[in-house]
Amino acid sequence: MFDEITATSLVKVDRNCNKVIDSPFPVNPAGFVIHSAVHEVREDIQCVMHVHTRAGVAVSAQKCGVLPISQQSTFVLASLAYHDYEGVAFRDDEKPRLQADLGDRNFLMLRNHGLLTVGRTIADAFLSMYIFESACQIQVSAQAGGELTPVHPQILNGVQQAIKVQTDGLGAAFVWPSLLRKLDRMDTGYKH
Ligand SMILES: [Zn+2]
Repeated sequence: MFDEITATSLVKVDRNCNKVIDSPFPVNPAGFVIHSAVHEVREDIQCVMHVHTRAGVAVSAQKCGVLPISQQSTFVLASLAYHDYEGVAFRDDEKPRLQADLGDRNFLMLRNHGLLTVGRTIADAFLSMYIFESACQIQVSAQAGGELTPVHPQILNGVQQAIKVQTDGLGAAFVWPSLLRKLDRMDTGYKH
């Protein structure tokens, strides 16, 4: 189970998916294809995060993609790309298309599949994923109601500057220590 994963149960592999540490655990081939494709071309990032949440997959199935209808969505739209579904991603030939679609963006919506974020640090990738997932939950909830009000395009253009001001230039490092404290209050087992 995901909640049983700890620091010492992680598997370290090289670029060809060969284990470089002793581990009794196998590596998911589809997981490796997607993550390694990104690591091969994005020297600027150290973490790739990918999830199949209900709201994320739901919005990934919508033709309109992420709608500019919440503050959260404006952060996502400032650096969002899309990748069409090609079936379970265990073939290497999908890598170039994944790499080209992501480009220099930090949020990737895998159509009919889920969400992917990248970050300079684990904290950056995590916070981006939290915002991405929140935007999707909000979109699905909002669509259950009346007519939607889009955010003004001029506001969308000023988002990068707003993020800098909001976090005092620290990015996700602004919230990461408090998230780790919260995790420790819940369960310190992940450290083993
Ligand atoms: Zn997946």
